[in-house]
Amino acid sequence: MRLSKTFIKTLREAPKDEISKNGALLTRAGYIHKVMAGVYDYLPFGMRVIENIKTIVREELNKIGCEEVLLSTLQNPEPWEKTGRFSDQEVDIWFKTELASGGELGLAPTHEEPIITMLKSYISSYKDLPLYLYQFQTKFRNEKRAKSGILRGREFLMKDLYSFHTSEEDLNRFYDEVIVAYDKIFKRLGLGDDTYTTFASGGIFSKYSHEFQTFLPVGEDTVYYNKDKSVVLNKEVFEPDVLEDLGISKEELSETTAAEVGNIFKLKIKYSEPLGLKFIDENNKQNVVYMGCYGIGISRVMGVIAEKFADEKGLVWPEAVAPFKYYLVGIDEKGIKEAEKLYEGHEEEILFDDRDCRPGEKFADAELIGVPYRVVISDKTLMKKSAEVTDRMTGKTKLVPLAELKKSF
Ligand code: ATP
Ligand code: MG
Repeated sequence: MRLSKTFIKTLREAPKDEISKNGALLTRAGYIHKVMAGVYDYLPFGMRVIENIKTIVREELNKIGCEEVLLSTLQNPEPWEKTGRFSDQEVDIWFKTELASGGELGLAPTHEEPIITMLKSYISSYKDLPLYLYQFQTKFRNEKRAKSGILRGREFLMKDLYSFHTSEEDLNRFYDEVIVAYDKIFKRLGLGDDTYTTFASGGIFSKYSHEFQTFLPVGEDTVYYNKDKSVVLNKEVFEPDVLEDLGISKEELSETTAAEVGNIFKLKIKYSEPLGLKFIDENNKQNVVYMGCYGIGISRVMGVIAEKFADEKGLVWPEAVAPFKYYLVGIDEKGIKEAEKLYEGHEEEILFDDRDCRPGEKFADAELIGVPYRVVISDKTLMKKSAEVTDRMTGKTKLVPLAELKKSF
């Protein structure tokens, strides 16, 4: 991509109403645009990061046999009334609207009810199970506070996976597979070192759920951890009986803040029973389908990565999610000409700063935008048939022969 051709303009200062670090940096660097509190547009760089995150999640889920779908946002109240979740007392974050022809609709905050309703048309026998379906979808939640940039949106992108089983044992088996897949996902996203499978409250039907918590100073959750014993638990289950269950004492745990990047639940028959999702087993008997649900906050993950790696100069993207691999700058006539040559055919991985402005301005934007490698070609580097390559994460610079650089594209 040529910087001169995009409509993006980096900003020296963040908008005054953007108090979060991720929101401020992502806005200044041209990744997102704030529409109102908790509502953001994603611009070309931001879309690239989101798509990279989605690709990693999609690849790991497909490996464990999941299939991708896309369910509707507009919700018929009927199935939600059957589970008691259309009531604003029960679920206090609904956005609701009305049909011109009369009748109420909701904007989906999650998708258990509609996916169960959909599957009633497709599941009838044990032969149809197990089944694992996921989607990347914009969720709507009327959150009370939305001051954390894209960490908490009123409209946000979630990956939600739902699994369907003939038995609790099969649900348990798949649930453990998802934990392994999630670990791989967070590692590939660059969050592996600081993301922990965390015991959290499980609601009525299961003792615990598991959250995936990334330790982060601005995280909204409080967790207790003991790294030697590999135990992390959310404050909401920090109680004597739970500690006894986990075989750990209060004194062995330290407190910190974290951002919940994922959450998985064994729903069992919590929603499939009231909605009547059943199958005929090998003995011709009718049974209720067992379910699990598994979320990852895709847009929140982008915000967490932005918060976690940023420094005083700007964003720092791990290579796996970065919008581009290289930020290319040509200096002097010859340098610019050589940069043009290098860019040709590599429009996907190179962000070419071909704007008519001072090198200093380009270097500052390279740091703000946070692409992993800055490549500078000038008279000086050309004397050695090389380019100067600077690693954004470590700040280390080295001369790399142009021929070698071309091979790495
Ligand atoms: P939280 O406790 O942060 O409100 P939650 O437990 O209600 O989240 P889930 O319903 O488990 O969230 O949603 C799955 C994932 O979606 C969460 O783990 C989180 O990463 C993400 N998520 C939830 N709410 C938001 C939001 N308002 N903005 C951005 N991401 C969100
Ligand atoms: Mg949760």
